[in-house]
Amino acid sequence: MPHQSSITFDEKVYALSKIVHKVKFRNNRSEKYTSSQLIHLRLFDDIALLMITEPGSDVAAVAFEQRTTEIIFYFAKNRPATTEELTYIRNLAILAQNSDTTNWKTTNRIDSIFNEVVRFCGPKILTRFSKILRVLTKLPPDALSFQDDTNGDLDRHLQKELGVWYDTPAGPAVLVDKFFSHLCGMAPKKPKVPNVAGLGQIIRVAHATGSFKCVEMVDGKEIVEHTVYPNEDLATQMRLLGNYFGAVKRIVRNVDSIKNRKPTEIRMQELVPAKLFQCRMPTDYLTIANNYATERNIPTISYDTLKNAYPDSTFLSPDDAHRSQSVTFTVHAECTVAMFMASLSRPWEFVKIGSSKGSCWLCERYLELDTKLKFHVSNEHGKLQPGWSIPPGGDAVVNAQVAELIGDELEEIVLRAVGN
Ligand SMILES: [Zn+2]
Repeated sequence: MPHQSSITFDEKVYALSKIVHKVKFRNNRSEKYTSSQLIHLRLFDDIALLMITEPGSDVAAVAFEQRTTEIIFYFAKNRPATTEELTYIRNLAILAQNSDTTNWKTTNRIDSIFNEVVRFCGPKILTRFSKILRVLTKLPPDALSFQDDTNGDLDRHLQKELGVWYDTPAGPAVLVDKFFSHLCGMAPKKPKVPNVAGLGQIIRVAHATGSFKCVEMVDGKEIVEHTVYPNEDLATQMRLLGNYFGAVKRIVRNVDSIKNRKPTEIRMQELVPAKLFQCRMPTDYLTIANNYATERNIPTISYDTLKNAYPDSTFLSPDDAHRSQSVTFTVHAECTVAMFMASLSRPWEFVKIGSSKGSCWLCERYLELDTKLKFHVSNEHGKLQPGWSIPPGGDAVVNAQVAELIGDELEEIVLRAVGN
């Protein structure tokens, strides 16, 4: 018999979203899927990434259906797509598959699509850029100098990746130093309105340097991987920025690698998500957790105990006991896509879903609980988000299971924090 609680589902999700505990427990995808499944999923993720145009909580999920004469491209965002976005997405699809009959070189197509992406996704790209600048301001200036390329590995890598964009005689040290000083020079300032050419070049360099790894033997045994970046946080941010170019390149090369490719009609279908709404939630998540603990007859918890156990959790001040916060309630894009794919009742064993930023913990669990179809998503970022809503029209049993899961999760983190 499921536990009946006076604490609402939304309150429990809110409390869980503020207590940062899940990131450590995320699954390792590469153990879950075969390498060919992973290649497909990453390609789908790349496609979803290029559909993100706005800063903030713009998210997209995609799925495909291959039919005899056409491919149907299903996609959903957290909100309905604008007319401009729909035109942009259609243009990308046409450019990627090169459906016109001219013999258009792969590199030229990559360049055209990338320019379109930088132009259209500029506002979103600038927020990535701001994150890099924030990391840079925290680093000492001498941490940003790359001199060591004795085997010429980085030089060859940059030549291959950057082509005409790389000044070969000057070499990698000059490129990396120039790149860092350029970024450091901008660090104290706010990024300016996007200049498409300049931004594009920075992304290309971020991709080329971010994708470099040098494997070395130490003492005849140990393998050490160097990256260009002296700081892990900076390396991650660079890779994420560089991904805008990496994604374009991987998509075009994947399309080109399909042998005997016939011009296929790509039909786009937007899956409009359930209407989003805003609601105020009390900021005092600790009271929610403790009320629930009392109901379940488990020890209540102090803020200090909680903070010790989950130090990345949102800071609470004494005033928070009386405050509330506006939360946007949405059905996440992956769930919108999954519910639609299930409603088609095709004889599929599983459905691959691409996501622009990895699925949250709740989407992942929800998709696992639906047993009619197996859903594959490549990435889970492991976080919980306030305002996560159960998709409408879903299975009542699955909905009840996810509600129970949320309660169990809250109980588990309280017990873990008090040392039980
Ligand atoms: Zn989600």
